[in-house]
Amino acid sequence: MVRHTGRKRVPRGMVMYSSNPVQYPGHSDDSAGLTSIEALAALVAADARPGGVVRVATGEACGRVLAEAVQANADYPPFDKAMMDGYAVRAADAATAPVELVVVEERAAGDDRPARLAAGQALRINTGAPMPEGADAVVMIERTAPTRDASRVRIMAAAKPGQNVAPRGGVCRLGEAVLSPPMRLGPAQIAAAAAAGSGEVVVYARPRLALASTGDELAPAGAARSFSQIYDSNGPSLTALGRLLGADVTFMGCIRDEEAALRERMIQALDAEIVVTIGGMAMGTRDLVPCVLRSLGVTWKVHGVNMRPGRPIGYGVGPRGQLVFGLPGNPVSCFVGFLLFVHMAIDGLSGLAARLPRGIRARLTRPTKAVRDPRPAFEPARLTWASDGTAVVEPAAWGGSGDPFGLGRANALLVRPEGGAAQAEGTLMDVLPIDAIWFGP
Ligand code: AMP
Ligand code: MG
Repeated sequence: MVRHTGRKRVPRGMVMYSSNPVQYPGHSDDSAGLTSIEALAALVAADARPGGVVRVATGEACGRVLAEAVQANADYPPFDKAMMDGYAVRAADAATAPVELVVVEERAAGDDRPARLAAGQALRINTGAPMPEGADAVVMIERTAPTRDASRVRIMAAAKPGQNVAPRGGVCRLGEAVLSPPMRLGPAQIAAAAAAGSGEVVVYARPRLALASTGDELAPAGAARSFSQIYDSNGPSLTALGRLLGADVTFMGCIRDEEAALRERMIQALDAEIVVTIGGMAMGTRDLVPCVLRSLGVTWKVHGVNMRPGRPIGYGVGPRGQLVFGLPGNPVSCFVGFLLFVHMAIDGLSGLAARLPRGIRARLTRPTKAVRDPRPAFEPARLTWASDGTAVVEPAAWGGSGDPFGLGRANALLVRPEGGAAQAEGTLMDVLPIDAIWFGP
């Protein structure tokens, strides 16, 4: 674990979350007994082990994490290949130009017929076609001229051996690893796997994640609701976020704040490798989640994190090693908790390094106000570009952790490790993009 003692020593992409975190679990940052972000992250990282592997069609593997190396099933290119439309020649015949050669045949890409070139001959060839035996250069069509005799071509520029020819195996040799695990596969990696001849790739199984919203006050959007109810915004939001991060998410619906109902659904939820509950983690009389999960064998390791929002976050481990997250119900609180910690669990079970999300640094477009709370803070923000192309971040207008519409104006979270300290316009700040999938190792 990197100890962040100052912004200057934070490696590129690493975010300084807390200004002075306690680095080991089991100890708290303050008298309220809160666990630091880094200490909770260390616990999750230790528990999040990669799961099984599956074979998927290469074209369907976007976003999956590679579990086995992809090796070239042949040299690439598999034959000496013409790289231009023009004439295949023996370079020695066209060492000086202009010179006239006898045109023998034509070869387009995909033509399997063997061809042979004798001294003084040229073969009309297209990009991608195998070179005829005996030829060692391609003269591009623009450097040739027709002659009155259609069976001859005039080479206008001298040719060098190897010119416009990709030699067999020049890019990659049979058996060479073209992709090495673990790595997130994106469109570019899919090109490499397919070029290597792999119709299927071996990837880590998507971690199964069960997500449940809890609260008597919740009604699904689109359904009828009573006077005191609000729509469940966190369920659909975190389902989407979990899928974006690569989990196989089952949304278990809105569960009432009743012990029996909660218990029954949590027994089902514990079939998954990652269990995420929303709401019911605080000190209210109907906050039943910690107690019900404990009765089902969950050992809570953390309850209360030194961050804002997200203080009531709980983390524990189920009887079969399930990673269990109890997130608070406020929309921004649970969103931040998911983006930081559930994200780590998904990555770890997917075969990637389980670490707090890396961010990018952007200049503040306007000053932030001081707040009295010293907890490291996360605020909805918009990450965009200044006219000179550098990244800038604009804090979104939001009404606090209970405001889902402020979140709706954001595409990123602004990290304020010193909590409430005011920051001047132009200050470089760490920013966590919300919906960027970071491909690569
Ligand atoms: P709780 O953590 O259960 O005390 O809930 C904190 C606040 O978040 C309350 O105002 C809830 O109504 C609200 N809330 C809880 N769950 C959700 C949800 N799934 N969608 C939207 N708001 C929620
Ligand atoms: Mg509740």
